[in-house]
Amino acid sequence: MTQPTVGVYVHIPFCVKKCGYCDFNAYSGYRDATKARYVDALCREIEGRSEARTRVATVFFGGGTPTTLAAGDLARVLDTVRRSFAVDPEAEISLEANPSDATLAYLSCLRGSGFNRISFGVQTFDDRLLKTIDRVHNAEDARQAVALAKQAGFDNLSIDLMFGLPRQTLADWDRSLEAAFALVVPHLSMYGLIVEEGTAFWARRERGKLSLPSEKTEAAMFGHALERAAAAGYHRYEVSNYALPGFESRHNQIYWRNEDYFGFGAGAASYRGGIRSMNERLPGRYADTVAEHGTATVEREALTPEEAMGETMMVGLRLAEGIDLLAFERRFGVRAEDRYAPQIADLRQAGLLEQSSDRLSLTQRGLFLASEVMIRFLA
Ligand code: SF4
Repeated sequence: MTQPTVGVYVHIPFCVKKCGYCDFNAYSGYRDATKARYVDALCREIEGRSEARTRVATVFFGGGTPTTLAAGDLARVLDTVRRSFAVDPEAEISLEANPSDATLAYLSCLRGSGFNRISFGVQTFDDRLLKTIDRVHNAEDARQAVALAKQAGFDNLSIDLMFGLPRQTLADWDRSLEAAFALVVPHLSMYGLIVEEGTAFWARRERGKLSLPSEKTEAAMFGHALERAAAAGYHRYEVSNYALPGFESRHNQIYWRNEDYFGFGAGAASYRGGIRSMNERLPGRYADTVAEHGTATVEREALTPEEAMGETMMVGLRLAEGIDLLAFERRFGVRAEDRYAPQIADLRQAGLLEQSSDRLSLTQRGLFLASEVMIRFLA
């Protein structure tokens, strides 16, 4: 029988500067010595939780900004993952990168050590907006980074873009889309800005100092992204993700199918055999805890079948292909159509969900109200 595969996530919590909208577990201002201690701790945690027979289909280094570390450190961590798990020879091995960290030597070193997918946090090609959202790169850095990554041998490239930024107009967004398509990358992630509590943007909005596009403009930006991406040959395979055929992110599909993954590093979450666990969030405390105990798990929760089913519905609806109803029944021994009959009936009647013989998915209208639809399935 084939071993089921899992994903591995590695968190690098360092950034050059904290962006005003960011609520990720990311910090600026850490010294090299702390980063070195963090890398040691990461390797130790991975080794301590190793499962040499468990097949790993995807490895994803995210953050923070993984490229704030030396390429040799990233290679060392990746090597530790390879020694601790049965990483498939064809595994997707991705990292997130800051455009201004990209040099040909650095990217070539990453490619040579086995990373085969790179995702640049570009956000916009408008230098004025990049400053507004506290990014440390400019549009030219982003163009250069993509060209250098291709030169270094990365043919699986992605860029992240954001819309709904302060004072961003539909025309600004259109120019960013145009610039992105001109780079001919096979994958695009396009997210609307969400002002999260605790961020600098939240505080600015509270003081009335953040001027954001209206909801109507933001919806128009999303609609525009859908149309322009389709016209450029990308298919939307998830609410915010678009790919040329064969370049869908395999790692993120593990999350959207609610499958198992290991998370290593500060604040990283794992989901394994119905148990969700979470690591210590602060990088220094994470490194201390690993040094003392070998791991840094601070929370562990066994999901009830109700919770696991609700989450599978919620994340599965993010996928354009929707929920695989037969797989759901095989996994939980219950038909989603029965367990969620009232919600499904309501949402279908409202034109937000559609159902075929074996799939349940968002309609085009449901896509614009995705969060409201998904929340109906939470236990
Ligand atoms: S670069 Fe990314 S992770 Fe770092 S602060 Fe900015 S948004 Fe957050």
